[in-house]
Amino acid sequence: MSGNMSRVQAIQLIASREPKPAKAPKKLEEMWAVNVFNLEKMQKSLPGNVFESLKKTIQAGEPLDGSLADVVATAMKDWAISKGALYYSHVFYPLTNATAEKHDGFVSVKSDGTAITEFEGKLLVQGEPDGSSFPNGGIRSTFEARGYTAWDVTSPAYIMETDNGMTFCIPTVFVSWTGEALDKKTPLLRSNAAMNKAATRVLKALGNAEVAPVNSSCGAEQEYFLVDINFVNSRPDLMLSGRTLFGKPPAKGQQFDDHYFGAIPERVQVFMQEVEEKLYRLGIPAKTRHNEVAPGQFEIAPIYEAANVAADHQQLLMTVLRNTAKKHGFVCLLHEKPFAGINGSGKHVNWSVGNKTQGNLLDPGDDPHTNLQFLTFCGAVIRGIHQYGPLLRAVIASASNDHRLGANEAPPAIISIYLGSQIADVFEQIKKGELKGSQRKGTMNMGVGTLPLLLQDAGDRNRTSPFAFTGNRFEFRAVGSGQAVSGPLVAMNTILADSLTWMADKLEAAIKGGASINDAVLAVLKEVMENHSAVIFNGNGYSEEWHKMAVEQRGLANLRTTADALPVLKDSKIEELFSKMEVLSSAELASRFETYAEQYINSIDVEAKLVINMAKTSIYPAAAHYLTDLATTAAKMKEIGADFGNSEIDKVAGLTKSLLASVEALSTALHKHDFATVEDHMQHAAKSIRPAMDEVRQYADALEAEVADDLWPLPTYQEMLFIK
Ligand code: ADP
Ligand code: MG
Repeated sequence: MSGNMSRVQAIQLIASREPKPAKAPKKLEEMWAVNVFNLEKMQKSLPGNVFESLKKTIQAGEPLDGSLADVVATAMKDWAISKGALYYSHVFYPLTNATAEKHDGFVSVKSDGTAITEFEGKLLVQGEPDGSSFPNGGIRSTFEARGYTAWDVTSPAYIMETDNGMTFCIPTVFVSWTGEALDKKTPLLRSNAAMNKAATRVLKALGNAEVAPVNSSCGAEQEYFLVDINFVNSRPDLMLSGRTLFGKPPAKGQQFDDHYFGAIPERVQVFMQEVEEKLYRLGIPAKTRHNEVAPGQFEIAPIYEAANVAADHQQLLMTVLRNTAKKHGFVCLLHEKPFAGINGSGKHVNWSVGNKTQGNLLDPGDDPHTNLQFLTFCGAVIRGIHQYGPLLRAVIASASNDHRLGANEAPPAIISIYLGSQIADVFEQIKKGELKGSQRKGTMNMGVGTLPLLLQDAGDRNRTSPFAFTGNRFEFRAVGSGQAVSGPLVAMNTILADSLTWMADKLEAAIKGGASINDAVLAVLKEVMENHSAVIFNGNGYSEEWHKMAVEQRGLANLRTTADALPVLKDSKIEELFSKMEVLSSAELASRFETYAEQYINSIDVEAKLVINMAKTSIYPAAAHYLTDLATTAAKMKEIGADFGNSEIDKVAGLTKSLLASVEALSTALHKHDFATVEDHMQHAAKSIRPAMDEVRQYADALEAEVADDLWPLPTYQEMLFIK
């Protein structure tokens, strides 16, 4: 299709779209977890002793009794078949941010030709997908490609519904033939175990006789964009790279802040309600929905759960968002920066640690200065983030998240902690060695008798910090919208495990030496503050002054790009951290560096190729066509003696020439291949290819502002962001 035909057609299709017929609202209890083989269903279908044993593994982390597998498998199969499932799948989480699954039928054929269903324990416990094509960063070569999946009983199995069938899904870990973790779940489970071990020691040192297993929790807020599928079909960049590589900013963007928390458009709300119903059926507790800052941008957040389950549920949530969007004629963009100049999408990962006996260990209560347990755990986080801030930056590094971090709406790439005035004040007192009291929560009288008295939090919110204390948890805000949450959770758990181990050593020694628990804790925390308070920052994280101060005075790292951040994974300090905490071996860590570096290079490579292709085959022809029109007009005007002038022709011709020259420059940058190291290659992508792409875009966007609208081939920002 030439000119703007595809755009016109897209708009016609959207305008004439029949709304999806409304479904009768359902009650929560009719939907809740109907597709999950949870404890309740296990209890109904398993012999009592089998159920009790499994429950102990799931809830208290006790070792799995392998001999139960056959009984459990049969119960699972019967339940799955009663729901209509004919296939099952081991679901796993490779080092991409995706979810992987291989489906197998329950079907088996007997010698007389009749078909029966079959599912033995060994099929539940272990699978062997041919995983040779998953990224593994050199851990396996293709000739020894065996990889195994193994059942994770702590994350419930569930049924994935499609319009005409069901698949029974079993969450699993994915490991190599030699036992190395090839996935994101294995390290998450290990990091939890390490954190539990260290936290238990600290809690015992604090004088607790009974200490239940400590687990980490996660509640992830997911931002996303919805764009009509008809527009996406005419944008190869959106289709293949998930973001627009060209596009002039619309006259109206987000400057009025009129989208944020605005009324949700009906078409979108119908979509959201279907997403929520699907999530409820999967036992995922969707809780909040609203419009985000940018036009076309929205957010969904579930209630927090145990980190391992939350991570699996987060992957499911992304799948459900994407699949449901298509049914509503949308494409759900989880890219961190689909539209330049407009807010990007993040994933705020709320994280805490706690257990049954001591509760949420990051809950300060009303008097934080007297709450030794809270102070200890919060102090451990402060120390960890200061020591390993660059690691936190590395685990959220990706080509797409680079557009967000450091841009003016997202957290800066410098990792600091926001504590809020109350907690910051308590820790300042500890540093001075005189702990006296806590600032109190206030109340607010609105001056109108009919309004309730409002409770005021002890500290305000801060939106500019990458890592903020938010009342009873930390919120890691720099995570990208498309990223799996496991990486950040692994880093946070491991860092905390390391700090708690350090603290446990100190506390145990001091108390053994006769110190009171109180004095021992305060001494350790004073040391933390003396050495690590540089990481605490309660001011504006976007400001120039902070960027200068953070690096020059506080010695914090400002790792702007993925090329700068990923090599942190090769630091001996990080290698030691992961191997000491038994979360990742050196080989496993190295394989992650290799894999993520390759992903970074590949993403930029794909984008650069798209830029070249679209500039040459869509944008240049439109510009050339327009130039011909202008030249024809000028010639005709001259014939009748009118003075038309050449200024517009000159302008468009100049931009078109520059466009072609910039495409040439990008091609040259892209064809460079002789790199001594992967690090060099990444730096080339960051410092040469990326800027060369921006240069092409600059001329293309300038042309979009000149060329006649009926010749412009690509759906515009205005169309994609505002037509629903
Ligand atoms: P906001 O936008 O104000 O940050 P939301 O309500 O959108 O808040 O999201 C907060 C998230 O934090 C929710 O997923 C919530 O369940 C989660 N959360 C609350 N308490 C904890 C906790 N102890 N551990 C982990 N996540 C938590
Ligand atoms: Mg939040």
